[in-house]
Amino acid sequence: AKKLGRNTYQFFDKERHTLDPTELTKESALFKAITNNEFVLYFQPKYDVQHNRLHGFEALVRWPQDDGSLIYPDEFIPLAEQNGAIIPLTQLLMKQLLQQLANWQKQDVPFGNVAINISALHFQQNSLIEMLVDYLTKYNVPARCLELEITESAMMNNPEFAEQQMKRIKALGVNITLDDFGTGHSSLSYLKRFPIDTLKIDKSFVKDIDKNEQDRNITATIVRLAKYLDINVVAEGVETEEQAYMLHIMGCHYQQGYYYCKPLKAEQVANFIDKNEVD
Ligand code: C2E
Ligand code: CA
Ligand code: CA
Ligand code: CA
Repeated sequence: AKKLGRNTYQFFDKERHTLDPTELTKESALFKAITNNEFVLYFQPKYDVQHNRLHGFEALVRWPQDDGSLIYPDEFIPLAEQNGAIIPLTQLLMKQLLQQLANWQKQDVPFGNVAINISALHFQQNSLIEMLVDYLTKYNVPARCLELEITESAMMNNPEFAEQQMKRIKALGVNITLDDFGTGHSSLSYLKRFPIDTLKIDKSFVKDIDKNEQDRNITATIVRLAKYLDINVVAEGVETEEQAYMLHIMGCHYQQGYYYCKPLKAEQVANFIDKNEVD
């Protein structure tokens, strides 16, 4: 009976997951928060270690609560991807981001380039391109300031469509980063064909780079692969001086992580840039 019960639950969970009461509550809270525009973007710096200066930022969403706490994306992005809310949510965030970039431009804040994460579901829609055109035009932000971080798996789902979609994104002048690189399964031939600007080495490889020879070898191989393909390479999740140094001697000069800086509130960014030169 126990086994049957579990199977039954799995059936409901997979096919009709909205019947789960806690999911339902979370789901309606999420939609309400989208309607009320409750989400905010934080900005984590990316460093250019070779030139010892700031390179740009990655925008990361947070959901502030009434008690002052934050809900982190791992708690609601997967749900938003499941129920499609990720599309209106990303539209809100893109609007917010380009408004912010336009403001920084007006104030002569040299932010470099700023990346935003795009979910697989969204990457696979034609409406992504319309959204980009709309907001880039509306807020008059140069496309080269904007970068999309798209996971490896999102691209490999349907490589033919992915190639066309990336070409449309590149035609606008927007940059493309292949996110979480090493955790999916990219085919090398596609890597060569896709118009990718940057590979981002996932933090799971960086974590033990100073202790684990295998992680070190994988990371060094990704760096060489990127050089061979003439693609930039950035490492995320850099937490220690040792990790930063190892990546640097491997030739990975763009780095991001708590060692450099945690994600900042928008209001903190200008002040932060004041103390760091941007390339
Ligand atoms: P990600 O794109 O791989 O982002 C990196 C995550 O690592 C971020 O977590 C970041 O805050 C965290 N991080 C940065 N430096 C360090 C470090 O030195 N050590 C460790 N352990 N972690 C570090 P966050 O902000 O909680 O985001 C988690 C994931 O949620 C992101 O992973 C991304 O997949 C997704 N996400 C975040 N914002 C958005 C968004 O606006 N749209 C979409 N579609 N997904 C988003
Ligand atoms: Ca990312
Ligand atoms: Ca990652
Ligand atoms: Ca991720």
